[in-house]
Amino acid sequence: MTAEYRGSKKDDGEFGREQISQVLHTKWAAGNLFFHEVTGSTNTDAALLGRKGAPHGTLVVADQQRSGRGRHGRVWESPAGSNIFMSILLRPQIPADKAPMLTIVMALALAEGISDLCDVQAGIKWPNDIVINKHKICGILTEMHLNGDGSIADVVIGDGINVNTESFPENIRDMAGSLLTETGKKTDRNLLVAAVMRHFEEDYDAFCEAVSLAPLKDAYEKKLLNRGNIVRVLDPAGEYTGTAQGITETGELIVERDGREIFVNAGEVSVRGLYGYV
Ligand code: ATP
Repeated sequence: MTAEYRGSKKDDGEFGREQISQVLHTKWAAGNLFFHEVTGSTNTDAALLGRKGAPHGTLVVADQQRSGRGRHGRVWESPAGSNIFMSILLRPQIPADKAPMLTIVMALALAEGISDLCDVQAGIKWPNDIVINKHKICGILTEMHLNGDGSIADVVIGDGINVNTESFPENIRDMAGSLLTETGKKTDRNLLVAAVMRHFEEDYDAFCEAVSLAPLKDAYEKKLLNRGNIVRVLDPAGEYTGTAQGITETGELIVERDGREIFVNAGEVSVRGLYGYV
C-alpha cells in the first residue's frame, strides 16, 4: 500500500514533538503532547491514554499509521513521511448526546487552520471532510467513551491530513488530494498542527460554553461547499436528493426536498454531490 505513494521520504523538514512544541501557542490544546514515527492508530493511542487518566487536551501525533481508520471500519491511507495523523483527547462537561457536534467543531478548525497557513480556501463537505478543488484533503474520526452512568469519560477526535503527498493509491486517486497537489506548495507540518490546535481550542471553548453550534454556525456555513447545491443523501433507508440549505445549531444538514425541509443526521448517512463526491 505504502509503496504506491511518491513523496514518502521526509520532504518538509523535521516533523516531531520538539518542533511542534516550539510553534504551539495554545492554552490547553496539545498541552500534553506525544509523537510517534509510526503507530497503529492515533485514535487508539489517545483512547488508551484516556483510560489511564491523561488530561483534557492531550494530543497524539504520528508520521505514519499502520492501521488508520475511517468511519464504519473504513481504511484511512496513512503512509510515512508527508502527512499528519493526530488525535486529541477531550473531556467535555456536556451531555453525551451533544458530543457528535464536536466533529463539526473540528472540521471548522481544520478548514480555518489550513486556510490561514496555506493561502488557499479549504471548504467543508458536510459534516466533516475538508475539500479543496473537489478533492478530499482530510478526514475526521470522532469516537466517544462513556462512563457506566452514561456520562462522557472522554471523546477522541482524530484527523488525517494529506499534506505533502504527491500521489494516491488507485482506489482513492480520483477523490483524494493533498495540500501539495492542490496548491503546488509544500507545507510545514509542525506549523499546521499548531494552527489547527489554535483554532480548535477557540472553537471548542465557544461550543462548550453555548453547548451548541450557534456561535460557529455562520463561520461553518461560509465554508460549507454543499450549501445551495443539490446533494444525494445516501440513507440506508433509501437514497434521495435535495438542495442543501445549511446546518442547524445541532449540526444536522438542512436539505430542501419538494418544498419541505429535512434535517439530516450524520450518523449512518453519507452525502454526495449530484454527479460526484462533492
Ligand atoms: P462518507 O462521505 O462516505 O461518509 P466519511 O467521511 O465517513 O465518508 P471517512 O471515514 O472520513 O469517510 O474516510 C474513509 C474513506 O476516505 C475511505 O473509505 C476512502 O474512500 C477515503 N480515504 C482513505 N484514505 C484517504 C486519504 N488518505 N485521503 C483521502 N481519502 C481517503
